[in-house]
Amino acid sequence: MITVEHLTKCYGDFMAVNDLSFEIDEGHVYGFLGPNGAGKSTTMNIMTGCLSATEGHIRINGYDIFEEPERAKKTIGYLPEQPPLYMNETPAEYLKFVGEAKGLRGMELKKQIEDVAGQTKIEHVMDRLISNLSKGYRQRVGIAQALLGSPRVIILDEPTVGLDPIQIIEIRELIRQLGENHTVILSSHILSEVQAICEKVLIISQGKLVAFDKPENLEKLLLASNGITFTVEASKEEIEEVLKEVSHITEWDIKTQEYELTTVSVKTESENVRDICRELFFAFADKEDAILEMSSKKANLEDVFIELTEGDNRLFNGKSEKSEVNRK
Ligand code: ADP
Ligand code: MG
Repeated sequence: MITVEHLTKCYGDFMAVNDLSFEIDEGHVYGFLGPNGAGKSTTMNIMTGCLSATEGHIRINGYDIFEEPERAKKTIGYLPEQPPLYMNETPAEYLKFVGEAKGLRGMELKKQIEDVAGQTKIEHVMDRLISNLSKGYRQRVGIAQALLGSPRVIILDEPTVGLDPIQIIEIRELIRQLGENHTVILSSHILSEVQAICEKVLIISQGKLVAFDKPENLEKLLLASNGITFTVEASKEEIEEVLKEVSHITEWDIKTQEYELTTVSVKTESENVRDICRELFFAFADKEDAILEMSSKKANLEDVFIELTEGDNRLFNGKSEKSEVNRK
C-alpha cells in the first residue's frame, strides 16, 4: 500500500534521511521509532507530500507522491508534529475549513464532521475555542482533521508528546481503534509506547532504517541477549574452565574484585535463563566455589533499541560483530 524506495533527504550538506526503503501493508499500526533527530518527521513530511525529497520514490496506494501528489494525498490523513490548529477558532469551524480544503461540501461535509467528532470524542467541545481546550483535546481535534476525507492511511507524528499520562492512555486507545479500520503510521521516541500500540516497528537511527519487525521479534534480534550476572569466590582461570562446560553460554565478561571475589556477566541465547542459572550454580558448587549473588535479566525491546541506535548498527539483521568480549 505504501512503498518507500531509496528515500534520501539532504538539508544542505546534512543528510537527514539516508537511503530509506520499506513497505507498509494495509491494515496494521506501524511505529517509527527513533531518538530525536533520527529523521522521523522528515520522512513523514515527505511521505505526506509536505516536503520534497533529494532522491528516491514513494508510492501511496498506487500513486507516486511526487508525480501525482493530489491523488496520493487524498488517501492520507496527516497529523504533523506541530498541528496547524487555529487557536481563535472552534473545532467545528476548524474542521469545516479543513474539510472544505479536502474538497468536501454540503451534507457530505456535515456528515463527515459528525463522524470524525464522534470517533475522536470531541462532540461536546465542538463550539469552544481551541485555545481553551486542553492539550489532549487539541490533539483529538488534530486527529479528527486527519480523518476527514476518509483516508485509508493515517500518519501521526509524535501524537502523544506533551500529554499527561491519562491523556496519553486515551490517545493510545483512540489510535488502537483507528487501527481497526485504517493503516496507521505513528512516530515516537518512546519505546514503551510503540511496544504498546504498534504491530510492526521501524527503528530509525541517523536517517537509516536499522530494524523493521514485530516488537516480539525485535526482542529476539539480540541473539545472545539474556544476561546473567553472578559473584563467585573463584579465580579467573577456574571460572573460565567452568564456563566452557556450561551449555548455551555465548559470551562472558569477568571482573575480579578484592578478597577472591569475582563478578561475572554471561550472555545466553537460551530462552530458559533459569535452567542456565541452575547449571551455573551446580557447576561452581561441584568445584566448591561458592556463588554469593546471582541475578538474571531478560532482554527487552529497550536493549535492542539502545544497541541499534547508539552503536554502529552492527546488530542489523541480528548479526553481531562484537568481539571485545570472550566467546566460546
Ligand atoms: P525526528 O523527527 O526523528 O526527531 P527530524 O526529521 O525532525 O527528526 O530531523 C532529522 C534531522 O534533520 C535533525 O538532525 C534535524 O536537526 C535536521 N533537520 C530537520 N529539519 C531541518 C531543516 N529544515 N533544516 C536543516 N536541518 C533540519
Ligand atoms: Mg520529529
